Amino acid sequence: MIPTQDFGLWTQDLTKMNHIAFILGYIPIGPAWLLMIGIAIVSFIVQWRFKSKFNQYAQEPLSSGLSGQEVAERMLRDNGIYDVQVVSVEGSLTDHYNPATKTVNLSPDVFYSRSVASAAVAAHECGHAVQHAKAYAWLSLRTAIVPVITVASTITQWTLFIGVMLLFFTNNPFVLAIGVAALALVTAFSFITLPVEFDASNRALAWLNNNYSVMQTRQEHDEAKDALWWAAMTYVVAALGALATLLYYASFLFNRRN
Ligand SMILES: [Zn+2]
Repeated sequence: MIPTQDFGLWTQDLTKMNHIAFILGYIPIGPAWLLMIGIAIVSFIVQWRFKSKFNQYAQEPLSSGLSGQEVAERMLRDNGIYDVQVVSVEGSLTDHYNPATKTVNLSPDVFYSRSVASAAVAAHECGHAVQHAKAYAWLSLRTAIVPVITVASTITQWTLFIGVMLLFFTNNPFVLAIGVAALALVTAFSFITLPVEFDASNRALAWLNNNYSVMQTRQEHDEAKDALWWAAMTYVVAALGALATLLYYASFLFNRRN
């Protein structure tokens, strides 16, 4: 039998330890926390895998000899898009399409190089330009809510930690509830991004598949598909990570004792 007194002391110690661990950001170690950490580890592996695939296919010369810039310009033209510019931007893996300025922005690694990886990325970014030109619903929705998400993202930075502190020490859930609501919007946004990303890659691969003058071998196409699949997986784990983080912070609200 455990004496009541000892048991009481033990729980007090545990509470003290929880306070210390909490300040370090390590508690409560519940299912939501484990899920969040598990996804963080998977995310790290997926990021690493994507980068190693990209680097591998960046070493594979494109048999057609076209640069990322040339691939992008051809894909835009083939889709009847003449009002989008293909430009080079600084950085690594900074490639993106900007609907506001109608520019396909390619990093120097993609813009200038004549590899399977650069062709895949250039075509993917043009896939977004095609979505924009065709008013693809998921892209329209994503673009429309960007300003709201920017605000929500800033709110989460200030309210989540302070909110948990207030809840823990004063039992006031108000600030944390605002943070969780803002985080829910950010999470929804990361899921809306998924169909946009998969669709851009599908458009890119379909175009590459039908253009012998750009991509001449089945192997090149398979490699481009592989690189874009891993790129899409980084978005999938990011969305799952956002959801796990949301569950983690929401669990503070739902588990709170009165
Ligand atoms: Zn994309």
